[in-house]
Amino acid sequence: MYKRILLKLSGESLAGGQGHGIDPERLHAYAAQIKQIADLGVQIGIVIGGGNIFRGLSGSKKGFDRVKGDQMGLLATVINSLALSSALEAVGQKVRVLTSVRMEPIGDFYSKAKALRLLSKGNVVILAGGTGLPYFTTDTASALRAIEIEADIMFKGTRVDGIYTADPEKDPSATKFSEITYDEILARGLKIMDLTAITLCRENNMPIYVFDMDHEGNLLKVIKDEQIGTLVKP
Ligand code: UDP
Repeated sequence: MYKRILLKLSGESLAGGQGHGIDPERLHAYAAQIKQIADLGVQIGIVIGGGNIFRGLSGSKKGFDRVKGDQMGLLATVINSLALSSALEAVGQKVRVLTSVRMEPIGDFYSKAKALRLLSKGNVVILAGGTGLPYFTTDTASALRAIEIEADIMFKGTRVDGIYTADPEKDPSATKFSEITYDEILARGLKIMDLTAITLCRENNMPIYVFDMDHEGNLLKVIKDEQIGTLVKP
């Protein structure tokens, strides 16, 4: 079983059926799944996106300055992180939020040492604010943090159950990979994560497991090495 993982959750999936904002039921369901694996002693770092609230790129298409739009996106990830930390506390899980830009008392300023110390004491650690920089995504932030905290693997929880040859929601003939290499993702132009994130994982040999997080018990399954998604490896 994995000792330390970095779990990436998209902001969009927090919206549940509503399509935007935060769905309290989805939030609770995620918190319950996370607590389940924390109880097994797995150290869990979490990076959560902000797409349910704001994305810099879509903002810039509507006339926002891109850097300011990205900063708004960063703040959206902090909002989601606080929501998730509150839901984790509500299910009895110790949790701390660390932020990539200073904003005490909302969260402590991130450092690797602080994250590792908190993880070793049984806290789930939510790494909020992405990389702190514009023009990056939370996929890249989670790749970076997974490598920094020396996670065994990065889990990308999505609403699709793995990586397909094409978008299964558009192409019914698409088939799922049980394993795939970083190079094949790049060669096939599969849009599972942005290129910066894939490249960072490839250069640092960080495996990625893509799975469907929206069904209860799936996080436990992947921790126990059940093959329900797609493994990305060298
Ligand atoms: N963002 C950023 N730098 C980062 C991470 C995120 O500027 O390191 C901004 C960016 O504008 C992005 C938004 O935050 O659109 C929300 O993050 P993301 O789109 O990755 O969220 P998700 O799609 O996972 O919900």
